[in-house]
Amino acid sequence: MGKIVKLDEFLSNKIAAGEVVERPASIVKELVENSIDACSTQIHIEVEEGGLQKIRIVDNGDGIEGDDCLLAFHRHATSKIRTDKDLFRIKTLGFRGEALPSIASVSHLQLKTCTGMGVGTNVVVEGGKIVENSPSSSRKGTEITVTNLFYNTPARLKYLKTIHTELGNITDIVYRLALANPAISFRLDHNGKKVFLSNGNGDLKQVIAAIYGINIAKQMVYLEASSLDFKISGYVCKPEVTRATRQYMSTFINHRFIKNFPLTKAIQDGYHTLLPIGRYPIVVLQIEMDPLLIDVNVHPSKLEVRLSKEDELNKLVTETVKSTFKQVQLIPEVKKPS
Ligand code: ADP
Ligand code: MG
Repeated sequence: MGKIVKLDEFLSNKIAAGEVVERPASIVKELVENSIDACSTQIHIEVEEGGLQKIRIVDNGDGIEGDDCLLAFHRHATSKIRTDKDLFRIKTLGFRGEALPSIASVSHLQLKTCTGMGVGTNVVVEGGKIVENSPSSSRKGTEITVTNLFYNTPARLKYLKTIHTELGNITDIVYRLALANPAISFRLDHNGKKVFLSNGNGDLKQVIAAIYGINIAKQMVYLEASSLDFKISGYVCKPEVTRATRQYMSTFINHRFIKNFPLTKAIQDGYHTLLPIGRYPIVVLQIEMDPLLIDVNVHPSKLEVRLSKEDELNKLVTETVKSTFKQVQLIPEVKKPS
Protein backbone atom coordinates (compact mmCIF):
# COMPACT_ATOMS: atom_id res chain seq x y z
CA MET A 1 0.00 0.00 0.00
CA GLY A 2 1.56 3.32 -1.05
CA LYS A 3 1.67 6.40 1.16
CA ILE A 4 0.34 8.96 -1.28
CA VAL A 5 -3.30 10.04 -1.07
CA LYS A 6 -5.17 12.53 -3.25
CA LEU A 7 -6.47 15.36 -1.03
CA ASP A 8 -10.22 15.94 -1.08
CA GLU A 9 -11.55 19.15 -2.61
CA PHE A 10 -12.26 20.87 0.74
CA LEU A 11 -8.66 20.51 1.80
CA SER A 12 -7.15 21.47 -1.53
CA ASN A 13 -9.37 24.57 -1.66
CA LYS A 14 -8.19 25.55 1.81
CA ILE A 15 -4.59 25.19 0.68
CA ALA A 16 -5.26 27.30 -2.42
CA ALA A 17 -6.95 29.87 -0.16
CA GLY A 18 -3.57 30.37 1.52
CA GLU A 19 -2.32 31.95 -1.71
CA VAL A 20 -5.43 33.66 -3.06
CA VAL A 21 -7.03 35.03 0.12
CA GLU A 22 -4.38 36.46 2.34
CA ARG A 23 -6.51 39.11 4.02
CA PRO A 24 -9.84 40.99 3.62
CA ALA A 25 -8.37 43.21 0.90
CA SER A 26 -7.54 40.17 -1.28
CA ILE A 27 -11.17 39.07 -1.02
CA VAL A 28 -12.38 42.51 -2.04
CA LYS A 29 -9.96 42.41 -4.99
CA GLU A 30 -11.07 38.99 -6.22
CA LEU A 31 -14.80 39.70 -5.83
CA VAL A 32 -14.68 43.14 -7.41
CA GLU A 33 -12.59 41.78 -10.30
CA ASN A 34 -15.34 39.22 -10.87
CA SER A 35 -17.87 42.07 -10.94
CA ILE A 36 -15.75 43.92 -13.50
CA ASP A 37 -15.39 40.79 -15.65
CA ALA A 38 -19.19 40.50 -15.53
CA CYS A 39 -19.47 43.92 -17.26
CA SER A 40 -20.87 45.75 -14.23
CA THR A 41 -21.20 49.52 -14.42
CA GLN A 42 -21.89 49.97 -10.70
CA ILE A 43 -20.08 48.15 -7.91
CA HIS A 44 -20.88 48.74 -4.28
CA ILE A 45 -18.44 47.46 -1.65
CA GLU A 46 -19.61 47.41 1.95
CA VAL A 47 -17.21 46.36 4.69
CA GLU A 48 -17.55 46.19 8.45
CA GLU A 49 -14.67 46.33 10.93
CA GLY A 50 -11.99 46.40 8.23
CA GLY A 51 -13.67 43.50 6.46
CA LEU A 52 -13.15 41.17 9.41
CA GLN A 53 -16.83 41.33 10.34
CA LYS A 54 -18.35 41.47 6.91
CA ILE A 55 -17.55 42.07 3.25
CA ARG A 56 -20.39 42.57 0.78
CA ILE A 57 -20.03 43.28 -2.92
CA VAL A 58 -23.12 44.20 -4.91
CA ASP A 59 -22.89 44.59 -8.69
CA ASN A 60 -25.25 45.14 -11.62
CA GLY A 61 -23.38 42.80 -13.95
CA ASP A 62 -24.35 39.76 -16.00
CA GLY A 63 -25.20 37.52 -13.05
CA ILE A 64 -24.70 33.74 -12.90
CA GLU A 65 -27.12 31.22 -14.34
CA GLY A 66 -28.79 28.85 -11.87
CA ASP A 67 -26.95 25.73 -13.06
CA ASP A 68 -23.59 27.46 -12.89
CA CYS A 69 -24.00 28.68 -9.32
CA LEU A 70 -22.84 25.45 -7.68
CA LEU A 71 -20.16 24.82 -10.29
CA ALA A 72 -18.65 28.25 -9.54
CA PHE A 73 -17.57 26.92 -6.11
CA HIS A 74 -15.51 24.12 -7.63
CA ARG A 75 -11.81 24.68 -8.07
CA HIS A 76 -10.69 25.57 -11.62
CA ALA A 77 -14.27 26.10 -12.71
CA THR A 78 -14.40 29.26 -14.83
CA SER A 79 -16.46 30.79 -17.61
CA LYS A 80 -13.47 32.85 -18.78
CA ILE A 81 -11.21 30.41 -20.59
CA ARG A 82 -11.82 27.08 -22.30
CA THR A 83 -8.65 25.96 -24.04
CA ASP A 84 -4.92 26.39 -23.56
CA LYS A 85 -4.93 28.82 -26.48
CA ASP A 86 -7.19 31.12 -24.44
CA LEU A 87 -4.52 31.24 -21.76
CA PHE A 88 -2.37 33.34 -24.09
CA ARG A 89 -5.02 35.90 -24.95
CA ILE A 90 -6.59 36.71 -21.63
CA LYS A 91 -8.90 39.71 -21.73
CA THR A 92 -10.54 39.19 -18.34
CA LEU A 93 -9.07 39.86 -14.90
CA GLY A 94 -9.82 36.32 -13.69
CA PHE A 95 -9.26 33.00 -15.40
CA ARG A 96 -7.92 30.61 -12.77
CA GLY A 97 -11.29 29.65 -11.29
CA GLU A 98 -9.86 29.74 -7.78
CA ALA A 99 -11.31 32.74 -5.99
CA LEU A 100 -14.85 31.64 -5.13
CA PRO A 101 -13.91 28.11 -3.92
CA SER A 102 -10.95 29.53 -1.96
CA ILE A 103 -12.94 32.31 -0.25
CA ALA A 104 -15.86 29.98 0.46
CA SER A 105 -13.55 27.41 2.07
CA VAL A 106 -12.39 29.84 4.79
CA SER A 107 -15.62 31.74 5.54
CA HIS A 108 -19.39 31.77 5.45
CA LEU A 109 -20.44 33.02 2.03
CA GLN A 110 -23.80 33.93 0.58
CA LEU A 111 -24.28 34.36 -3.17
CA LYS A 112 -27.43 35.95 -4.57
CA THR A 113 -27.42 36.30 -8.31
CA CYS A 114 -29.66 36.70 -11.32
CA THR A 115 -29.00 37.09 -15.04
CA GLY A 116 -32.09 39.24 -15.37
CA MET A 117 -33.99 36.41 -17.06
CA GLY A 118 -36.37 34.56 -14.76
CA VAL A 119 -35.80 33.97 -11.10
CA GLY A 120 -32.41 34.29 -9.38
CA THR A 121 -30.42 31.91 -7.22
CA ASN A 122 -29.40 32.05 -3.58
CA VAL A 123 -26.54 29.81 -2.43
CA VAL A 124 -25.04 29.65 1.06
CA VAL A 125 -21.65 28.00 1.55
CA GLU A 126 -20.03 27.38 4.95
CA GLY A 127 -16.40 26.30 5.07
CA GLY A 128 -16.67 25.08 1.47
CA LYS A 129 -19.88 23.07 2.00
CA ILE A 130 -23.08 24.12 0.24
CA VAL A 131 -25.75 24.42 2.95
CA GLU A 132 -28.50 26.17 1.01
CA ASN A 133 -29.57 26.46 -2.63
CA SER A 134 -32.86 28.27 -3.16
CA PRO A 135 -34.56 30.75 -5.51
CA SER A 136 -33.78 34.42 -5.04
CA SER A 137 -34.89 37.81 -6.33
CA SER A 138 -34.74 38.61 -10.02
CA ARG A 139 -32.75 41.83 -9.79
CA LYS A 140 -30.03 41.56 -12.45
CA GLY A 141 -26.58 41.30 -10.94
CA THR A 142 -24.70 39.57 -8.17
CA GLU A 143 -24.42 40.12 -4.43
CA ILE A 144 -21.80 38.22 -2.44
CA THR A 145 -21.57 38.49 1.34
CA VAL A 146 -18.60 37.07 3.25
CA THR A 147 -18.76 36.71 7.05
CA ASN A 148 -16.81 34.75 9.68
CA LEU A 149 -13.68 35.13 7.63
CA PHE A 150 -10.89 32.66 8.56
CA TYR A 151 -13.09 31.10 11.28
CA ASN A 152 -11.59 27.71 10.43
CA THR A 153 -8.00 28.87 9.92
CA PRO A 154 -7.10 30.41 13.31
CA ALA A 155 -3.45 31.00 12.39
CA ARG A 156 -4.50 33.19 9.49
CA LEU A 157 -6.95 35.07 11.67
CA LYS A 158 -4.24 35.85 14.17
CA TYR A 159 -1.97 37.20 11.47
CA LEU A 160 -4.45 39.93 10.48
CA LYS A 161 -3.59 43.46 11.48
CA THR A 162 -5.74 46.17 13.06
CA ILE A 163 -9.06 47.20 11.55
CA HIS A 164 -7.42 50.45 10.50
CA THR A 165 -4.65 48.65 8.55
CA GLU A 166 -7.03 46.18 6.92
CA LEU A 167 -9.32 49.04 5.86
CA GLY A 168 -6.29 50.87 4.47
CA ASN A 169 -5.44 47.85 2.33
CA ILE A 170 -9.03 47.56 1.11
CA THR A 171 -9.15 51.25 0.25
CA ASP A 172 -5.91 50.97 -1.75
CA ILE A 173 -7.34 48.06 -3.74
CA VAL A 174 -10.55 49.96 -4.47
CA TYR A 175 -8.57 53.05 -5.54
CA ARG A 176 -6.56 50.96 -8.01
CA LEU A 177 -9.64 49.29 -9.42
CA ALA A 178 -11.34 52.69 -9.80
CA LEU A 179 -8.29 54.21 -11.53
CA ALA A 180 -8.17 51.22 -13.88
CA ASN A 181 -11.87 51.53 -14.71
CA PRO A 182 -13.06 55.16 -14.81
CA ALA A 183 -16.21 54.07 -16.65
CA ILE A 184 -17.38 52.01 -13.68
CA SER A 185 -18.88 53.67 -10.60
CA PHE A 186 -17.33 52.33 -7.38
CA ARG A 187 -18.62 53.01 -3.91
CA LEU A 188 -16.88 51.88 -0.73
CA ASP A 189 -18.64 52.07 2.65
CA HIS A 190 -17.06 51.20 5.99
CA ASN A 191 -19.34 50.56 8.97
CA GLY A 192 -22.16 52.25 7.06
CA LYS A 193 -20.16 55.40 6.22
CA LYS A 194 -19.07 56.39 2.73
CA VAL A 195 -15.28 56.14 2.25
CA PHE A 196 -15.00 56.53 -1.51
CA LEU A 197 -17.19 57.15 -4.52
CA SER A 198 -16.30 57.42 -8.19
CA ASN A 199 -19.06 58.49 -10.53
CA GLY A 200 -18.23 56.15 -13.42
CA ASN A 201 -18.50 58.80 -16.14
CA GLY A 202 -15.24 57.65 -17.78
CA ASP A 203 -13.19 60.72 -16.81
CA LEU A 204 -9.92 59.48 -15.27
CA LYS A 205 -9.08 62.95 -13.93
CA GLN A 206 -12.24 62.93 -11.83
CA VAL A 207 -11.23 59.57 -10.31
CA ILE A 208 -7.80 61.04 -9.54
CA ALA A 209 -9.52 64.01 -7.86
CA ALA A 210 -11.73 61.67 -5.80
CA ILE A 211 -8.63 59.80 -4.55
CA TYR A 212 -5.86 62.37 -4.25
CA GLY A 213 -7.92 65.56 -3.95
CA ILE A 214 -8.80 68.29 -6.39
CA ASN A 215 -5.55 70.24 -5.88
CA ILE A 216 -3.39 67.28 -6.93
CA ALA A 217 -5.69 66.56 -9.88
CA LYS A 218 -5.16 70.14 -11.09
CA GLN A 219 -1.40 69.53 -11.13
CA MET A 220 -1.68 66.45 -13.35
CA VAL A 221 -0.86 66.64 -17.05
CA TYR A 222 -2.52 64.40 -19.63
CA LEU A 223 -0.37 62.27 -21.89
CA GLU A 224 -1.12 59.96 -24.75
CA ALA A 225 0.95 58.11 -27.35
CA SER A 226 1.01 54.96 -29.38
CA SER A 227 3.37 52.71 -31.28
CA LEU A 228 2.72 49.65 -33.41
CA ASP A 229 2.23 47.43 -30.36
CA PHE A 230 1.27 49.76 -27.53
CA LYS A 231 -1.17 52.51 -26.72
CA ILE A 232 -0.49 54.52 -23.60
CA SER A 233 -2.49 57.26 -21.90
CA GLY A 234 -2.91 58.77 -18.47
CA TYR A 235 -1.77 61.55 -16.19
CA VAL A 236 1.61 62.51 -14.78
CA CYS A 237 2.13 65.16 -12.10
CA LYS A 238 4.14 68.29 -12.61
CA PRO A 239 7.60 67.90 -11.07
CA GLU A 240 6.83 70.25 -8.19
CA VAL A 241 4.24 67.87 -6.69
CA THR A 242 6.39 64.82 -6.07
CA ARG A 243 6.12 62.26 -3.27
CA ALA A 244 8.61 60.40 -1.05
CA THR A 245 7.59 56.91 -2.21
CA ARG A 246 6.88 55.05 -5.45
CA GLN A 247 3.43 54.18 -4.08
CA TYR A 248 1.76 56.94 -6.07
CA MET A 249 2.92 55.54 -9.39
CA SER A 250 0.05 53.38 -10.61
CA THR A 251 0.54 51.40 -13.80
CA PHE A 252 -2.13 49.36 -15.55
CA ILE A 253 -1.93 47.01 -18.48
CA ASN A 254 -5.22 46.19 -20.18
CA HIS A 255 -7.07 47.49 -17.05
CA ARG A 256 -5.03 45.29 -14.71
CA PHE A 257 -2.93 46.94 -11.97
CA ILE A 258 0.62 45.69 -12.28
CA LYS A 259 3.90 46.16 -10.47
CA ASN A 260 6.84 46.37 -12.81
CA PHE A 261 10.06 48.05 -11.73
CA PRO A 262 11.50 48.69 -15.22
CA LEU A 263 8.25 50.43 -16.15
CA THR A 264 8.28 52.78 -13.14
CA LYS A 265 11.96 53.43 -13.86
CA ALA A 266 11.04 54.31 -17.46
CA ILE A 267 8.54 56.90 -16.16
CA GLN A 268 11.12 58.39 -13.81
CA ASP A 269 13.63 58.53 -16.68
CA GLY A 270 11.10 60.64 -18.60
CA TYR A 271 11.33 63.28 -15.87
CA HIS A 272 15.11 63.11 -16.14
CA THR A 273 16.63 65.75 -13.82
CA LEU A 274 13.27 67.37 -13.06
CA LEU A 275 12.75 64.96 -10.15
CA PRO A 276 14.65 65.79 -6.98
CA ILE A 277 16.70 62.86 -5.62
CA GLY A 278 14.58 60.52 -3.51
CA ARG A 279 11.31 61.97 -4.82
CA TYR A 280 8.80 60.15 -7.02
CA PRO A 281 5.98 61.37 -9.21
CA ILE A 282 2.24 60.78 -8.93
CA VAL A 283 1.35 58.88 -12.08
CA VAL A 284 -1.62 57.00 -13.47
CA LEU A 285 -0.57 55.23 -16.64
CA GLN A 286 -2.89 53.04 -18.68
CA ILE A 287 -1.26 50.75 -21.23
CA GLU A 288 -3.12 48.80 -23.84
CA MET A 289 -1.56 45.99 -25.79
CA ASP A 290 -2.39 42.76 -27.52
CA PRO A 291 -2.93 40.16 -24.75
CA LEU A 292 -0.57 37.90 -26.72
CA LEU A 293 2.32 40.14 -25.64
CA ILE A 294 1.67 39.72 -21.94
CA ASP A 295 1.81 36.67 -19.68
CA VAL A 296 -0.33 37.20 -16.58
CA ASN A 297 -0.09 33.60 -15.49
CA VAL A 298 3.02 34.18 -13.39
CA HIS A 299 1.58 34.34 -9.88
CA PRO A 300 -1.89 33.71 -8.39
CA SER A 301 -2.24 37.37 -7.41
CA LYS A 302 -1.51 38.34 -11.07
CA LEU A 303 0.30 41.45 -9.82
CA GLU A 304 3.45 40.58 -11.68
CA VAL A 305 3.37 39.98 -15.38
CA ARG A 306 5.89 39.08 -18.08
CA LEU A 307 6.03 41.30 -21.12
CA SER A 308 7.33 40.67 -24.58
CA LYS A 309 8.78 43.78 -26.22
CA GLU A 310 9.37 45.31 -22.79
CA ASP A 311 12.18 47.56 -24.06
CA GLU A 312 9.98 49.01 -26.81
CA LEU A 313 7.28 49.81 -24.25
CA ASN A 314 9.67 51.41 -21.77
CA LYS A 315 11.22 53.55 -24.48
CA LEU A 316 7.80 54.77 -25.58
CA VAL A 317 6.92 55.62 -21.97
CA THR A 318 10.15 57.54 -21.31
CA GLU A 319 9.87 59.49 -24.56
CA THR A 320 6.21 60.35 -23.99
CA VAL A 321 6.76 61.64 -20.45
CA LYS A 322 9.73 63.67 -21.68
CA SER A 323 7.82 65.26 -24.56
CA THR A 324 4.79 65.93 -22.37
CA PHE A 325 6.84 68.23 -20.20
CA LYS A 326 8.47 69.84 -23.22
CA GLN A 327 5.00 70.61 -24.55
CA VAL A 328 3.80 72.20 -21.35
CA GLN A 329 7.10 74.09 -21.31
CA LEU A 330 8.18 73.03 -17.88
CA ILE A 331 11.69 72.32 -19.03
CA PRO A 332 13.26 75.76 -19.40
CA GLU A 333 14.88 76.15 -22.81
CA VAL A 334 18.55 77.09 -22.64
CA LYS A 335 18.75 80.61 -24.04
CA LYS A 336 21.57 81.41 -26.40
CA PRO A 337 23.57 84.39 -25.17
CA SER A 338 22.62 87.41 -27.23
P1 ADP B 1 -12.47 33.20 -12.29
O1 ADP B 1 -12.79 34.62 -12.05
O2 ADP B 1 -11.00 32.95 -12.37
O3 ADP B 1 -13.21 32.61 -13.46
P2 ADP B 1 -13.80 32.73 -9.74
O4 ADP B 1 -13.68 31.62 -8.77
O5 ADP B 1 -13.43 34.09 -9.28
O6 ADP B 1 -12.93 32.32 -11.02
O7 ADP B 1 -15.29 32.76 -10.28
C1 ADP B 1 -15.84 31.60 -10.88
C2 ADP B 1 -16.89 31.95 -11.91
O8 ADP B 1 -18.05 32.47 -11.27
C3 ADP B 1 -16.48 33.00 -12.92
O9 ADP B 1 -15.78 32.43 -14.02
C4 ADP B 1 -17.81 33.61 -13.34
O10 ADP B 1 -18.41 32.84 -14.37
C5 ADP B 1 -18.67 33.45 -12.08
N1 ADP B 1 -18.75 34.71 -11.30
C6 ADP B 1 -18.11 35.00 -10.14
N2 ADP B 1 -18.45 36.22 -9.68
C7 ADP B 1 -19.32 36.74 -10.57
C8 ADP B 1 -20.05 37.99 -10.66
N3 ADP B 1 -19.93 38.96 -9.73
N4 ADP B 1 -20.89 38.16 -11.72
C9 ADP B 1 -21.04 37.19 -12.67
N5 ADP B 1 -20.36 36.00 -12.63
C10 ADP B 1 -19.54 35.78 -11.60
MG1 MG C 1 -12.33 35.63 -10.29
